[in-house]
Amino acid sequence: MEVTRVGGVNVVRIPFDGYVGRGDPPNAYFIAAKPLVLIDTGIMYPGNLGRLAAALETFDFTLSEIDLVVLTHWHWDHTGLAREIADRSGARFFCHSSERVRLFGNDDEVGELAASTRRFYASHGFDRGLAASLTGLAFDHERVDIPFERVHFVRGGEKVPAGALALQVLHTPGHTPGALCLFSDEDKALFSSDTVYGRLFPHPVVEIPSKGDRTRSVLREYPATLRKLGKLGAMTCFPGHGAPFSPAQKVIAPISSFIERRLKRLERLLAVHPLCAADVMTAFFPNVSEAERYHAVAEVVLLLEVLEIEGRAERTEEHGILKFMKSDKGVP
Ligand SMILES: [Zn+2]
Ligand SMILES: [Zn+2]
Repeated sequence: MEVTRVGGVNVVRIPFDGYVGRGDPPNAYFIAAKPLVLIDTGIMYPGNLGRLAAALETFDFTLSEIDLVVLTHWHWDHTGLAREIADRSGARFFCHSSERVRLFGNDDEVGELAASTRRFYASHGFDRGLAASLTGLAFDHERVDIPFERVHFVRGGEKVPAGALALQVLHTPGHTPGALCLFSDEDKALFSSDTVYGRLFPHPVVEIPSKGDRTRSVLREYPATLRKLGKLGAMTCFPGHGAPFSPAQKVIAPISSFIERRLKRLERLLAVHPLCAADVMTAFFPNVSEAERYHAVAEVVLLLEVLEIEGRAERTEEHGILKFMKSDKGVP
């Protein structure tokens, strides 16, 4: 547990046990005031609920007093204890409507989205085994089982009062379709979840939208999300993994410049001949390990899609595989 004073209230960070990914374990935060707001719920793992309860008790609160839980995105390491908290409190749950299927969808909806995701990977030239294991990574998990009438779908712009902190919900697509951040303009405090957490490339999987164009992922929206967050002037940033840092731009700016350097390198590669994402992955990451493969796929897809929306590359289809070539449409 770690306490940071912001705008006259205590912001409490709780890192959770049971994380199997690389790097720092996921955080939940609560603002130690009424209405009692919890941001994310950590991992379902022995001892974690007790860890949250003990942290609350330090500030004379109990689990039953939690008023609102904001689920910043559907990933299992941020939503694991949602059911336990729902059972022990009357809390309402905020999440973005674009996360509905992955959080609460029925088997048919989830199966259909998983099948589209497998087709998405295949269309980028990735082999059947890799497409299946990448899809499994995103869909082989339990849905969040909380009473649906307590779930409120947000779109961004909503206000979340947390004691003296006036938080605003920001929709920040990229990491997932309905990824959320929370921002206090008055106190310049940003809860950035996994959108910004100190890793150069924080995305483990490619996620396609549950509605609309499924031939393009939401990763292509990530650079615009970073630009939007960069303009907030956030001084304290509370990330989804790891310790808070200041200012937010200290982490946002290097991610943006890393992506731009990679985009330039990819542009040079596509100027030679058209390539599919699987070809680009071989060129960029010839010795990628099994454990790094997921990030490599996501990075390559993001770069191709961003070059495309910026008019610096265009796609064609050859025998069902998408190929990308350099384009000068984006050059004024
Ligand atoms: Zn995540
Ligand atoms: Zn995470």
